[in-house]
Amino acid sequence: MNNYMLDPHPCIFCDHPTNFGSGRFVNRLPADTYHEKGGMEEYRDGYACAECMATECDRCPEFLELDEDVTPEMVYGELFAGLFSDRAYRVHAGCLTEEEARRWRISAG
Ligand SMILES: [Zn+2]
Ligand SMILES: [Zn+2]
Repeated sequence: MNNYMLDPHPCIFCDHPTNFGSGRFVNRLPADTYHEKGGMEEYRDGYACAECMATECDRCPEFLELDEDVTPEMVYGELFAGLFSDRAYRVHAGCLTEEEARRWRISAG
């Protein structure tokens, strides 16, 4: 039991409040994590703010919105388990190379 489930629902990653009126309420997401603290792992169950859930694109400094990311599986098919040739994994559709974008359009139908 920890206070992450209690008001003001601190983000489990950054400890900023995510309660109503905090500015983070609308975009918060239920989440849990094992947080390393003083050599101990502390289980945290509660909410994560949108900033902490956001992932960075591997090819540009911009953040990816939810569902905006394109991964190698989407380009090369579900059975492909690897990275793009430059070791990128999550990228914007606009950050795909021409060849990748072409394949992606084919596999997306
Ligand atoms: Zn956060
Ligand atoms: Zn990008």
